[in-house]
Amino acid sequence: MPVPLLDLKAQHAAIRDDVVAAMMRVVDDQTFILGRPVEELEADVATLSKTKHAIGCASGTDALLLALRALDIGRGDEVITTPFTFFATAGTIHNVGATPVFADIDPRTFNLDPAAAAAARTTRSKAVVPVDLFGQMAPLELVREAVGLPVIEDAAQSIGARRHVCGEWVMAGQIATIGTFSFFPSKNLGGYGDGGMMVTNDDALAERLRRLRVHGGAKQYFHDEVGYNSRLDTLQAAVLHAKLPHLAGWSAARRRNAAHYDAGFADVPEVATPVVLPESESIYNQYTIRVPRRDALQAHLKARGIGSNVYYPLPMHLQPCFAYLGCKEGQFPEAERAAQEVLSLPVYPELTTAQLDEVIAAVRGFYGR
Ligand SMILES: *Cc1c(COP(=O)(O)O)cnc(C)c1O
Repeated sequence: MPVPLLDLKAQHAAIRDDVVAAMMRVVDDQTFILGRPVEELEADVATLSKTKHAIGCASGTDALLLALRALDIGRGDEVITTPFTFFATAGTIHNVGATPVFADIDPRTFNLDPAAAAAARTTRSKAVVPVDLFGQMAPLELVREAVGLPVIEDAAQSIGARRHVCGEWVMAGQIATIGTFSFFPSKNLGGYGDGGMMVTNDDALAERLRRLRVHGGAKQYFHDEVGYNSRLDTLQAAVLHAKLPHLAGWSAARRRNAAHYDAGFADVPEVATPVVLPESESIYNQYTIRVPRRDALQAHLKARGIGSNVYYPLPMHLQPCFAYLGCKEGQFPEAERAAQEVLSLPVYPELTTAQLDEVIAAVRGFYGR
């Protein structure tokens, strides 16, 4: 039986009636720009994230871009971030005119190392952008304390994830200056197209973000600054609002699948299973192992109809577009080693035990275990 990396049709089949009804309400209303569905989703995401404000926008990439703009980051400024992430994290820093400054990752979690981030700080540094990679929160409170700058939490992969800090659960997005989410279809809460959201507890930043997403004017046709057309599409908001009540159950199913893999690989020395820190609860946007002979394993799985992917094959500091930064190979050894060793396996909620066991057997077979 084939095991795709992700099966969005299986998820859609289970919720089709609710989602289609929500979409049709928007269609019948003919209110396609902002309006109730967007406001309802914003309220629910703010509640989930335990933040005062949530502001929808066009994508997770735009959420980062607007967050950087709201913090007045631009030409001449430096922003510290991880080299081991999806491109948008670094691309948006470049696109506001600032310079991305990379700091290496913690090899256990693939997340930004607070001490390395602090060491990267200069007089030009204006913010730090930790990424909650693969659904596990970065150590936000440690990064904030070590670096001492505003924090934009790239929570594109971690909506609903949490971390135990000083005896309390902190949600993804909650303690950042601004947290950013993506509703790209492959995220744990995926729309039927692009979408994103920003969360913050700061009233002034929230107002600024709301303005920036509608061309920078608080009042239509009057512009305090130059912003963007970056609203969350109303049809997407309706889809996401219908899906949101399922998110906790889906993430729990991903954790069950991850635990099944962990057990299945426990006696395979070649397979390093994902490390989730004891203080952390991951939503497993990806289940990412580290292995020797990674590319050969991927080919072996593919030949057996099993999907997998390498997130991410080339760290940001080695991307051709960032050659102007003058980074060298070997500069961020943990990020570079991760790029060589990682492989993400199917972990989506609708996987059956038989499918999980098939993946386990195929990986074990490759290493002769
Ligand atoms: C998906 C993702 C983004 C970008 O989100 P889009 O909605 O695709 O623009 C940014 N950062 C990370 C870490 C992501 O995984």
